[in-house]
Amino acid sequence: MTSPPTIDNQEHFMPERPATTVARWNGLHPIGTPVTAYPGCRPEDDSEDERLTTRTRSKAEVLGGHTAVVWVEGHGACIALTHVDPDHTARFPAVAVPCPTCQSAAGQLCTSHGGSRTRRHDVHQTRTAAFAAAQQTGEN
Ligand SMILES: [Zn+2]
Repeated sequence: MTSPPTIDNQEHFMPERPATTVARWNGLHPIGTPVTAYPGCRPEDDSEDERLTTRTRSKAEVLGGHTAVVWVEGHGACIALTHVDPDHTARFPAVAVPCPTCQSAAGQLCTSHGGSRTRRHDVHQTRTAAFAAAQQTGEN
């Protein structure tokens, strides 16, 4: 390996209580938020599995005291929040371009730790820069 290790201060490895996840989700994502939902496997587990481009139709809540879930349009059952991604490009416009640092494809969130962990709260600075450069050269 020739590349230096990256230091990531944004990661939190402590498991989170479901009520905390729900409270944060509801604070950020009101009913009707555009999302991509994965009723089966997440794309990093099975890229062929079903995905829904939809929007939420409920607030998030804790199901059975242990799982944070939300309901989305077009799917009858609730889906775990771990299987519902808010529309990335709405939150992170830079996701529209591939990431030079972690090699995430356009439309995919950045990853850390060799791709094993999705960065849900930010994107790499190099990607933001690449996006800004693309905006300057690609639009006129
Ligand atoms: Zn990245």
